[in-house]
Amino acid sequence: MAQSAVAQPTVTTPDVPAKLPIGAIAPWAVFLGILMLVLLYFVGAEQGATSLVSGEGVHEWVHDARHLLGFPCH
Ligand SMILES: [Zn+2]
Repeated sequence: MAQSAVAQPTVTTPDVPAKLPIGAIAPWAVFLGILMLVLLYFVGAEQGATSLVSGEGVHEWVHDARHLLGFPCH
């Protein structure tokens, strides 16, 4: 068996899997969840009686996403 002149790196794996820092992730998860709910509101319900912004501007900006996600529109 031929010996390789190139040294092979040794790979070591830790015995204990890395733990997720839940305390550090939780605030960002809550923030992103709220952001997604606001985005979902503007895409899905910002129209007619539930409209927060007067006019059709927001509705026109999210119109394609509205149809893509299957929200009733027109
Ligand atoms: Zn439409």
